[in-house]
Amino acid sequence: MQDCLFCKIVAGEIPSQKLFQDDDITAFRDINPAAPKHILVIPNRHIASINEASEQDQSLLGKLLLVANQIAEQEGLAEEGFRYVINTGSNGGQTVFHLHLHILGGRQLGWPPG
Ligand code: 5GP
Ligand code: ZN
Repeated sequence: MQDCLFCKIVAGEIPSQKLFQDDDITAFRDINPAAPKHILVIPNRHIASINEASEQDQSLLGKLLLVANQIAEQEGLAEEGFRYVINTGSNGGQTVFHLHLHILGGRQLGWPPG
């Protein structure tokens, strides 16, 4: 999609620190980390928000989670724990409207979120 920041990251038009990319999924480090480890995992195809996903995205969403698990393991987060976050819409704090899963870890995370 034109003018979508994360579509441009997928295409390599905007530089990012990529940890993983295949035909379906891309993972890269967040530019403004909220924790010692902060990685974004996204579908390459533009889906604006999780609530805009449909039945045809079922396997893609499953793969997104499995790739995230792989990255959490690779980044050394699996043993001590981590958090997945999908901010959705205005109240959810979503600022980039291309679906992304945050992986946050490397410190004790507070609950409930702000
Ligand atoms: P949201 O608030 O939509 O859930 O998360 C968007 C995330 O994208 C934020 O954590 C923000 O730091 C990150 N972000 C925004 N612009 C860029 C960018 O150009 N590159 C990277 N790597 N991350 C970005
Ligand atoms: Zn996009």
